[in-house]
Amino acid sequence: MSAQLFVVATPIGHLDDMTFRAVEVLKNVTVIAAEDTRKSIQLLKHFNITTPLTACHDHNESHVISSLIEKLKNGHDIALVSDAGTPLISDPGFKLVRAAQENGIRVTPIPGACAAIAALSSVGLPSDRFSFVGFLPSKSSQRLAQLEKIKDESQTLIFYEAPHRILACVKDMCQIFGADRPVGFAREITKTFETIKKMTLQQLVEFIEQDHHQEKGEIVLVIGGASTDSELNQDQQALDQLLQRLLQDLSVKAASQLAADLSGVKKKIAYQRALELSQAISDNHN
Ligand code: SAM
Repeated sequence: MSAQLFVVATPIGHLDDMTFRAVEVLKNVTVIAAEDTRKSIQLLKHFNITTPLTACHDHNESHVISSLIEKLKNGHDIALVSDAGTPLISDPGFKLVRAAQENGIRVTPIPGACAAIAALSSVGLPSDRFSFVGFLPSKSSQRLAQLEKIKDESQTLIFYEAPHRILACVKDMCQIFGADRPVGFAREITKTFETIKKMTLQQLVEFIEQDHHQEKGEIVLVIGGASTDSELNQDQQALDQLLQRLLQDLSVKAASQLAADLSGVKKKIAYQRALELSQAISDNHN
């Protein structure tokens, strides 16, 4: 019987997010390889799991791999957990999973919480295409350089950031991505002070500056892609300018028809916008 390495996701705050399958697997394996055994002990106690733990973190992963692979080869199932969320996602475990696969050992994911996906699913930014960036460098000059490289990416971007760097990081993003770029701010997901908000980068700088509680806890930043919302805004502005000029000489119907022909915007949309603008112009005159 060949043993398996189970990659087990654990909650990112609320313990009820632990899955039934995760509890079962952690109870039944021979050993649990944990990023920080002291932290994992709390979780195991809560679910009455008595399986022995062994440390497997960034500093010892290369050393412990051979003994874990040996155990697996001898038929003992092993579970890998990190402090919170899904192992390997800005957490240790990649080298162990790679070694298991290279040794022909089956690797089985036990899916569950992941802060990046929880944030993406709730901030209201496009989720069809996204890129997980994880943590940026802590030095501002390096952070700015990395942001510069990805500023034109059109897909949604997901970042993890430490609370004490959040304000500096958002200011750097504001500088590189532009003050109007939409951002989803997901703080303390599943915990008592959960805060999920969507605004512009400039508004987020102000929001954090006005309430320093926002610089506490765990935070995910989700940034709208370069050509999504901001491109739509540019198209909207161009249509508005065209309609405003045409409405000086033409009726709403004629102006919207001409604007639709010139810009490629649907006639119905141009007509609706022309109506709104002409109403605003007449309100201004009254
Ligand atoms: N492996 C984890 C996962 O699946 O999400 C991520 C571990 S990484 C070391 C820790 C970072 O994840 C935090 O600094 C924060 O950016 C994010 N994070 C973790 N838990 C979170 C939560 N409850 N709310 C918001 N962000 C969280």
